[in-house]
Order: sequence, then C-alpha cells, then structure tokens
Amino acid sequence: MRFVAFIKEGRTGIGCLDPHEEILLDLTQAGLSDNLISVIEMGEQGLDMAREAARKSQQIPIQQVRLCAPFPIPRRNIICVGKNYFEHSKEFEKSGFDSTSGGQTIPDAPVIFTKATTSVTGPKEPIPASSDPSKSTDYEGELAVVVGKQGYKIPQSEAFNYICGYTIINDVTARNLQQVHKQWFLGKSLNGFCPMGPTFVTADEIKEPTKLKVTTRVNGELRQQASVADLIFDIPTIIETVSSLITLIPGDIIATGTPAGVGIGFSPPRFLQPGDSVAIEIDPIGVLENPVI
Ligand code: MG
Repeated sequence: MRFVAFIKEGRTGIGCLDPHEEILLDLTQAGLSDNLISVIEMGEQGLDMAREAARKSQQIPIQQVRLCAPFPIPRRNIICVGKNYFEHSKEFEKSGFDSTSGGQTIPDAPVIFTKATTSVTGPKEPIPASSDPSKSTDYEGELAVVVGKQGYKIPQSEAFNYICGYTIINDVTARNLQQVHKQWFLGKSLNGFCPMGPTFVTADEIKEPTKLKVTTRVNGELRQQASVADLIFDIPTIIETVSSLITLIPGDIIATGTPAGVGIGFSPPRFLQPGDSVAIEIDPIGVLENPVI
C-alpha cells in the first residue's frame, strides 16, 4: 500500500493513494487510526485492517486535502547515515565542510547521527533557509527505511524482516553550523529541515530496494541521481550496525545517506536560497517537493 497522512478541514487522517495520485481513500474515516505508527506496529494485522478500511472508505480528490509527512511526529529522532555514497563522501571531504572526517574520505564504519523529531515537515511545506543564521542551507535527497518491529542485535540476514516500508526524506543541512559545532546534530535539526513523504510505501511493494533510484532537482535542474545499490554500507549493514547497540522500535526512521551532487559539491557552493524549489523523486514513493523560503 501507498499510505499518506493528511489534514482535511482540520481533521488528521491516514489514507492510501491510487496509482495516479488523484484519489485518496480516507482510511481514518473508515475506522483506522490517524497515526501510521500505531498501524505499522501491529504488523500484518495492521495492514489487514488498513486493507479492510480501504474497501469501505470514502474516495476524496487529492486536491481537497493537505498532505503531511507520513510520520509527522516520530517517536524519537530520525536516525541518519552520513557519507554513505562514494562520490558524495569525496565531494564532502573536498568541500572543507567536514570537521569530523579526520582526513578519512571513505569511512570504515557507518557514520551515524540523528535529526530532531521537530525538524520533520511535510510535502510542499517550506524549507526555512531564512532561519539558518549561517546562510548555508543545503539539500540531501535520501531513501529512508521504516522499522516495523522491535529488534536488537539483528543480523544482516534478518534485516529486511524488520523493515515495514520506505519513504523519502530531505536531510536539509546548515553546512556552516555542521562545521562550527564539530557535530552534525544542530545543523541538521533546525525546524523544517526534515521534509518527509509524500508517501510511505509498504515493503511488499518494493521487493528490491537496491533497484531504487534517488533523483534530486533544484528549480528543475538535475543535481543528484544515483542508485541505492551504490550505498557504501547497504541497508542490512546499517540495520545490523545500529541494532547491535540500540534496540530499534516500530516507527524508527533511518535515512540511508545522500548521493553526490549536494550544494557544497560545487565550487563555489550552491546553497539553497529563498524562492528555490527542491524536488526529490524515488519511484514508487513519489516526488517530495518543497519550496525554500
Ligand atoms: Mg544525509
């Protein structure tokens, strides 16, 4: 299923989208929770309830709702992987903005950091570059995996059993803050710096995530394009690494890293400016587009 979260006339709801993205089935009106985390943590039973709700739900033209991030208030910080595509890792090192590399271009182990839950925002919502005091706002298009059940010390061979689906995030970053504070959390966590969506696609609809392609355009200009197969640390390695130390819980969102082509990959850097628009596409999740203010 392709789930969306939405607001219609002040009411929050969960829906699913038809393939043409014109009609939304209002699952919450048909009895399902308006919180996608509580649906996915029920596992197969939750999905069965969603399918049942879809059979008796009302059809709404998509124009009549405002889409939100599928997980607008995650239970805890978004877990992220830095420097996880070879070419991006090289461009980041070369840019001089990486204060944490210690001269090591390609990391030996996954670089893990988090973004505050309050940075999450929805499709079409503005990215507030104007609130970045360092005026160095950059985009990072990423595939995010969503954890569906609790797990600790998950081996790579079991990793996909713990993933219930996929979404897109834009890991928006204030580069100068990332550099000045010698740690990435603040520069990655400004309010509105984690656009997410437009859909959450369940894992049964994406059998081979390594075949997904991440494409980012700024004002229509192609900036990033790579295959998820190019990750330095693949999805099973990420799951194994994080869960070797931290219990993963349903609703955890793990952003897998961004390909080459971010603003600091250019010389001089091409930071986001008010009036810009960033669109990240991963088929079949859709296009996550946000204006910059
Ligand atoms: Mg990133």
